[in-house]
Amino acid sequence: MKSRRLVHHALYALAVLLAVGICAAAIALLWIDRRVTWDAAHVSARNITGVLSGDISRTVHLYDLSLQGVIERLGEPGMERVERATQHRFLFDRSSTAEYLGAIVVVDKDGNIRYHSGSLDPPAVNFADRDFFQVHRDADDIGLYVSRPYHSRMRGGDESIAISRRLSNPDGSFAGIVGGSLRLAYFRDRFAALSIGERDEIAIFRNDGVVLLRNPYSLSDLGSDIGMSLDFQQFLIRREGSFVGVLSPDGVNRLYTFATIEGTPLILDVAMDVDEVMAPWMRRALLVVPVTGALFLSVVALIVLFRREMSQRQVIEARLEAQAQTDGLTGMPNRRAFDEALAREWLDARRERAPLSLLFLDADHFKRYNDRYGHQEGDELLKVLALVLKQKARRPRDLAARYGGEEFVVLLPDTSGQRAEAVAEGIRQAIAGLRVPHEDNGAGIVTVSIGVATAIPLAEDMEASLVEAADAALYQAKEAGRNRVAVAGE
Ligand code: GH3
Ligand code: MG
Ligand code: MG
Repeated sequence: MKSRRLVHHALYALAVLLAVGICAAAIALLWIDRRVTWDAAHVSARNITGVLSGDISRTVHLYDLSLQGVIERLGEPGMERVERATQHRFLFDRSSTAEYLGAIVVVDKDGNIRYHSGSLDPPAVNFADRDFFQVHRDADDIGLYVSRPYHSRMRGGDESIAISRRLSNPDGSFAGIVGGSLRLAYFRDRFAALSIGERDEIAIFRNDGVVLLRNPYSLSDLGSDIGMSLDFQQFLIRREGSFVGVLSPDGVNRLYTFATIEGTPLILDVAMDVDEVMAPWMRRALLVVPVTGALFLSVVALIVLFRREMSQRQVIEARLEAQAQTDGLTGMPNRRAFDEALAREWLDARRERAPLSLLFLDADHFKRYNDRYGHQEGDELLKVLALVLKQKARRPRDLAARYGGEEFVVLLPDTSGQRAEAVAEGIRQAIAGLRVPHEDNGAGIVTVSIGVATAIPLAEDMEASLVEAADAALYQAKEAGRNRVAVAGE
């Protein structure tokens, strides 16, 4: 019984462990998966910014070298004296030319073109209103300047940016600028070549927040200002890195990965829609969570069912156990219950060195009673006898039981022979006092004979001897004429 309960507890603990384990494993799995997915997005964003910024940096640097070359040669002594075609070749021969690069121009201090790499006869265009002119005019420490985007006057409104450097007189005063244009198509084509998500964005902007180009491309972005939001300031403080935030008016939460483009005042950023980045993980989670939930619930259901089954079984077992110990006719404890109680009380009495008494009771001439009044009536009489015994064996540990047939026993723990004899006599008188008619019995009424035995147990497992002694005493009572009490050993 005890070991079975232990097994139940172990099974129960295992089931709980299983339920918790399933959940823990699923959570750990999803957690790791989430990290891996997130890290992969970071890596791919860093790859894009790395490759792009390297490419742009090289292009701008080459172009800048051309500008510096022009500045150097403008300062060569004797420049003024050679003829114009030679000047032109000398200035621009080694300048970079590439698909996206426009003309290099040398502009005087009033904004008029002095030299134009594309023609000996420069168009009469004035740049005094352009930022790439004004910025150098107003300060001499700008270095390489990248302009706001503009629509080129010389190339039919093509969107471009200019990169420019200041020309200074020997005394440091403003002498004009050298500038060149770079078509925004250069960035646009590079961005377009990348495969990015539908709602991902790539943008290139100056470190003062002026956007040069944003992909997906929109004309309204041209020259717009992304503003000095708190998030944007991160671009300036750190040279590269990433953060998550909502910067665009579309309200989409994005992972922004940015890098400063080496040697320029430009910043490149790749913005990935967080939802899109996490979508594959989300799909897996949406599969794992319900499956795990179902598993968890099944285990919990198993535990609940198991427990209910167990408790029902215990109730049934307890009932069966009680039934097995009860006499069907009288409802009192049966022979089996008596045997167990006797063994128990025998041990207790031995431990406490206390007397243990037993009454053995038998109805007198019961066979005749049956014969005259019928078996049914005999049964009724047995029930009456049982009631009397229950009333007389009153102390908590006293036990009246049906031993079999019309024989009953009364076990009286911690009871001396004298007291047991008195109890027996009380029972005998009570039954005789009922005056139940029994014409074939000596006195014409129902009587019983009772054998009494008492022991102070010394040895183990000798309780049978007490029953034998009481039985022997009963035999004496019968021999002596019935309707009496006989004490063993007297
Ligand atoms: P004695 O005074 O010597 O005990 O005579 P007796 O007839 O009682 O003796 P015996 O033990 O020979 O007979 C017992 C009888 O009890 C036999 C049987 O008919 C009857 N008996 C046993 N069990 C039951 C029972 O459950 N119901 C009924 N009605 N009678 C029973
Ligand atoms: Mg008998
Ligand atoms: Mg009898």
